[in-house]
Amino acid sequence: MSQPLDILRSRFGYPQFRFQQQAIIESLVEGRDALVLMPTGGGKSLCYQIPALLRDGVGVVISPLIALMQDQVDALAQNGINAAFLNSTQSPQQQFETRRRIVKGDIDLLYVAPERALTDDFLQLLGECRIALFAIDEAHCVSQWGHDFRPDYQNLTRLHEHFPQVPRIALTATADRRTLGEIESQLHLQGAQRFVHSFDRPNIFYRITQGDNGRQRMWEFIQQNHAGDSGIVYCLSRKKVEETANWLSERGRHALPYHAGLDKNTRAEHQRIFLQQEAVIIVATIAFGMGIDKPDVRFVAHLNLPKNIESYYQETGRAGRDGEPANAWMAYGLQDIIKLRQMMAQSDADEQFKRVLHHKMEAMLGFCEQSGCRRQTLLEYFDENLAQPCGNCDNCAEPPQTWDATEAARMALSCVYRTGQRFGVNYVIDVLMGNSRDRIVQNRHDQLSTFGIGDLDTNEWRSLFRQLIALGYLFADIDNYGALKMNPSCKPLLNGSQQLRLRQFVKQRKVRKTAAARARVTLQAGDTPLFEALRLHRSELARQQSVPPFVILHDKTLHAICELRPQTTEQLGEIPGIGARKLELYGDDLIRITQQFPATAADSVEDVENR
Ligand code: ADP
Ligand code: ZN
Repeated sequence: MSQPLDILRSRFGYPQFRFQQQAIIESLVEGRDALVLMPTGGGKSLCYQIPALLRDGVGVVISPLIALMQDQVDALAQNGINAAFLNSTQSPQQQFETRRRIVKGDIDLLYVAPERALTDDFLQLLGECRIALFAIDEAHCVSQWGHDFRPDYQNLTRLHEHFPQVPRIALTATADRRTLGEIESQLHLQGAQRFVHSFDRPNIFYRITQGDNGRQRMWEFIQQNHAGDSGIVYCLSRKKVEETANWLSERGRHALPYHAGLDKNTRAEHQRIFLQQEAVIIVATIAFGMGIDKPDVRFVAHLNLPKNIESYYQETGRAGRDGEPANAWMAYGLQDIIKLRQMMAQSDADEQFKRVLHHKMEAMLGFCEQSGCRRQTLLEYFDENLAQPCGNCDNCAEPPQTWDATEAARMALSCVYRTGQRFGVNYVIDVLMGNSRDRIVQNRHDQLSTFGIGDLDTNEWRSLFRQLIALGYLFADIDNYGALKMNPSCKPLLNGSQQLRLRQFVKQRKVRKTAAARARVTLQAGDTPLFEALRLHRSELARQQSVPPFVILHDKTLHAICELRPQTTEQLGEIPGIGARKLELYGDDLIRITQQFPATAADSVEDVENR
């Protein structure tokens, strides 16, 4: 009998297992249950695909997303694996044919939605064949408290009751301790071995920028780092989604909107284009996400503050599933904080629920304003400990300057106080800067001791107020036109018993290329023509077979070809991601193309320099 490692190498073309893959696979092969928590892109699929190939019978995969099944089955077919799905998009004739193949034992992996898996009809079908295993993907859907709750998931124990001898594996990327416990008890997986992997996504570079005019800054970021890449831009409102998509299109990018206000067909079409074409940007509300299994999303940008760290982590997690460098970029300003606080205050949730929301939002703000390592904070939030700063986030790469803001904060607070806590940020800043506007003169606020008292400029004051609000010293009263009010926590600052250090306001210098971009540019220096030729060839293959390009070959595989320049089938077979089947299908063409672009002397010099 073949070993897991043989299958990994021959069928999938990967040299080694990652993380705990091997232990998980062995445990299933031997007939034991498993509960797996692994981050997005960690490689969960192989954990049930390989055991399904090694065990007798069909591996039944419960997956909540019908839209993804086609890609999953296509990707397996590319590796010469017989997979199929049963769902409502198929004609009765297709379903009949698929069922026939299942009963005959021709199918190694079968994808179904939970609703169908629980029908008598389906159980009867299963009764007629051998079952290798049950895999329950996105197992957190079982949790009533999560945002992806699917009631049918709670009944999946029925499968186990019917076929108690079949091993089960439940997998998820988004579960805290409590949700894991819920999965275990709801699915009766108490006897399953737990495999919990770190949440960390080391290939994602986190960058958070403060200040106004986020859209322009985002444009510079995209231009510099992702001129030819796919990405997702998240906005809070439908209107902003539309505007931003138009704005990017006017500037020459292929950008498409996605939000719940668009009709179903348009949404499906935009999603399809995003998956199937290169260099498309989707501008979306959070309606876009679940089920986007595109491995080569190179950046996720937020033009608003996400409402909590879970959302931020889940949304940014859609970048770089293939493990290649990717960017999570975000812009926010004073108005965003005020708006978020406002939404929270106006929500009609009950008090206790509101307190939880509020607490989560504070954690998000704290994360944005902090000057230490972002990754350490993120992981800490998920109860994980990263001993050293990561070196792959903005604060690690370019530690922010801080300054003693005690005096300036005191001026700002006392100005709020002296103007009666009745005015918004702009007004208070005008007073502090000594701008004799009509309203200020009418209110006699030009007579105040805080009039024209500071020597900061507008941007510096705005940055200071943003941080005072983010840190909870001040709040903007929405029932009162955003008038700034003081919280009790101001006291120690005002009476001089507390010092305050804040992030220095950074003038908008030229956006530097981030680490992700640097990593990519070095790889591509001199290799660009070959990379582009390979990409073109891949697009052509994808078009012929009506599948997304990443189903044919991943970017990572193309990069490796550029770097290693294989000249023989044997050398090509060594490249990660090229198994026996792909070698047979595409090998000759890939080698022919590679030979058309011989490595130049300049490349080798650069290669040496970059090592
Ligand atoms: P998940 O479901 O955990 O988000 P996937 O199963 O889609 O992740 O795997 C993410 C990517 O990693 C896929 O392209 C997959 O082929 C690749 N992968 C998985 N295991 C390995 C491995 N051992 N070596 C190299 N690549 C792997
Ligand atoms: Zn860091």
